[in-house]
Amino acid sequence: MVKELIENALDAGARRIEIATAGGGKNLIRVSDDGCGIPAGELPLAIRRHCTSKLGGGLEAIDTLGFRGEALPSIGSVARLSLKSRATGAAEAHEIAVDGGRPDGPRPTALSKGTLIEVRDLFHAVPARLKFLKSDRAEGAAITEIVRRIAIAFPEVRFELAGPDRSRTVFEAVPRADRLHRIDAVIGAEFGDNAIAIDAEREAVRLAGFAGLPTFNRGNGLAQFFYVNGRPVRDKMLLSALRGAYADVLAKDRHPIAVLFLSLDPALVDVNVHPAKADVRFRDPGLVRGLIVGAIRQAFAEAGLRSSTANAA
Ligand code: ADP
Ligand code: MG
Repeated sequence: MVKELIENALDAGARRIEIATAGGGKNLIRVSDDGCGIPAGELPLAIRRHCTSKLGGGLEAIDTLGFRGEALPSIGSVARLSLKSRATGAAEAHEIAVDGGRPDGPRPTALSKGTLIEVRDLFHAVPARLKFLKSDRAEGAAITEIVRRIAIAFPEVRFELAGPDRSRTVFEAVPRADRLHRIDAVIGAEFGDNAIAIDAEREAVRLAGFAGLPTFNRGNGLAQFFYVNGRPVRDKMLLSALRGAYADVLAKDRHPIAVLFLSLDPALVDVNVHPAKADVRFRDPGLVRGLIVGAIRQAFAEAGLRSSTANAA
């Protein structure tokens, strides 16, 4: 849910996105952005099912992050949703609310710029679904994780996440060319000094990013970030390819740290297999796997790293 709201803000061209949550998101999720906003007349459409403002050039031409026109209506049907927005150039902001699927508004409200969305009392209308949520703490941690993953892909956007107990995580905007600064901010400042740049291409599939040195490893696999055409994914095949790339240089119980961006023709990949999942379906998974394993191994070989470093950590 936080993911969809942040994706909408990014689609709207936001440069600043602020996220606040309470109760692990169950009591409140608030996402505000400084993007293009929604004109008052379109507010009722934004919360209507299968209404999207993003289907200009046909499915294959889509470079927006979410395009199903489902996020806001689904949220509005299971929570109290409030949408305030001021479209660029509009004289005033407007607000629309939805509770149990019933819209209320739009009416004028105060907001200087962009869009502010509040989701309260998640699943209050469907308590059975509440039971499937984890503890506040675990849900809160999952939200932090989503923000970190997205933040790596959008270094030029400033992210601020306010969690419980006044905790605050801020990723300041940096130029796209300084992407490594953002990665360091997310993963930890030493990653950049302990990683090798990856840049390889096979049959018009490009792989770029950073692979941590085998010696700079972790006991868990939480610092492995994959992106396909700019959107964060967590896909078994990609993670297994990464593992394969390090097989000769890393002890079995250790995990590599990596941030890898795959770019390819959107027609050759389906990242929307299921909206709630981050799995990917590649037309040619073998090609992608080979590219990842080959590029990382070659980068290590060029850096003079051999299997003898395997247990150096
Ligand atoms: P989708 O993103 O698939 O179009 P959503 O339900 O997520 O569908 O959003 C519906 C519509 O509401 C979007 O197409 C967009 O026009 C508008 N919208 C939603 N969030 C924002 C936002 N943060 N800024 C500007 N417009 C937004
Ligand atoms: Mg969306």
